[in-house]
Amino acid sequence: MSEEIEKVKILIIGSGPAGYTAAIYTARAGLNPVLYQGLQPGGQLTITSDVENFPGFPQGIGGPELMELMQKQAEKFNTQMRFGIISKVDFSKRPFMIFTDDEKQISAETVIIATGATARWLGLESERRLAGSGVSACAQCDGFFYKGQDVAIVGGGDTAAEEASYLAGICKTVYLIHRRNELRASKYMQEKVSKISNIKILYSHIIKEILGEKSVEGVLLEDIKNKKEVKLNIQGFFVAIGHHPNTEIFKGQLDTNENGYIITKPGTTQTSVKGVFAAGDVQDEAYRQAITAAGSGCMAALEVEKFLCAPPN
Ligand SMILES: Cc1cc2nc3c(=O)[nH]c(=O)nc-3n(C[C@H](O)[C@H](O)[C@H](O)COP(=O)(O)OP(=O)(O)OC[C@H]3O[C@@H](n4cnc5c(N)ncnc54)[C@H](O)[C@@H]3O)c2cc1C
Repeated sequence: MSEEIEKVKILIIGSGPAGYTAAIYTARAGLNPVLYQGLQPGGQLTITSDVENFPGFPQGIGGPELMELMQKQAEKFNTQMRFGIISKVDFSKRPFMIFTDDEKQISAETVIIATGATARWLGLESERRLAGSGVSACAQCDGFFYKGQDVAIVGGGDTAAEEASYLAGICKTVYLIHRRNELRASKYMQEKVSKISNIKILYSHIIKEILGEKSVEGVLLEDIKNKKEVKLNIQGFFVAIGHHPNTEIFKGQLDTNENGYIITKPGTTQTSVKGVFAAGDVQDEAYRQAITAAGSGCMAALEVEKFLCAPPN
């Protein structure tokens, strides 16, 4: 571990819409934020092609391009942007101690956690190859691209059922594929999807391969009950088997819910430790959108400003 400890007023962990927005606000307030970008500079939007629902871009904008613009805006106001990973934190007393993967120690008066969440994928080669070209982990984000077309969604929980009913309002046919013989979703959601005429539920089916070279053309399934292969012609394939919040390094230091998401005081971004704030998907199991992440990044920045003016005892 190096000897010198850097002192900062505010450390932002994460470079998605939440982190960059928090940086823009705190930098403009003259707080000289330091931002660690992590393994995925720009966050989740860098793995999607078109973003059509972020306000201000009537023609849509590429995910990587949108994130580059946010980074430039944060840098314009003198955010110290660093490519690196935070590997450990000690929130037991203020100022907080933060450790980076290149063995640097930082003492921070306040911290904004914006480490996001990661979608769970099936792990198929075809899924990786076609991600962003017909394969998506976000129905609300990408469903519109398949208006009037046939799509499949894999999963069996509430999220899969909710996303299937959302897609049913846009697409011609929605195949809801689940490996078990009943959905895990709540009774209410099970009844809801079973009543929607263009949702076809395929129980006891597993995904063998997503078909297509440059874009999705179909999906090959195994009917595990009847031991036979089934091929569906579809244009969009959605994965809804869950997300996991990137909170491993905060375990035992902050209150989290049963799924690992950071708990914040309702209506604020304040975590269970005074001076530590959380914004974006890392504390939001419900909405998980770029605009809500950016909005809570702004909230965290304003709360940090207030905190630094008059820190509570
Ligand atoms: C395929 C796909 C398409 C999507 N399309 C849309 C869309 O069209 N519109 C929309 O509104 N939303 C869309 N979303 C959702 C949107 O991307 C997320 O809601 C948003 O990116 C969340 O922002 P965030 O700032 O909370 O975190 P993220 O974007 O998840 O970023 C997290 C950041 O934290 C960093 N990080 C993690 N751990 C560490 C660490 N230990 N140290 C340092 N840094 C760390 C990562 O490197 C990353 O930069 C999509 C998501 C996916 C997966």
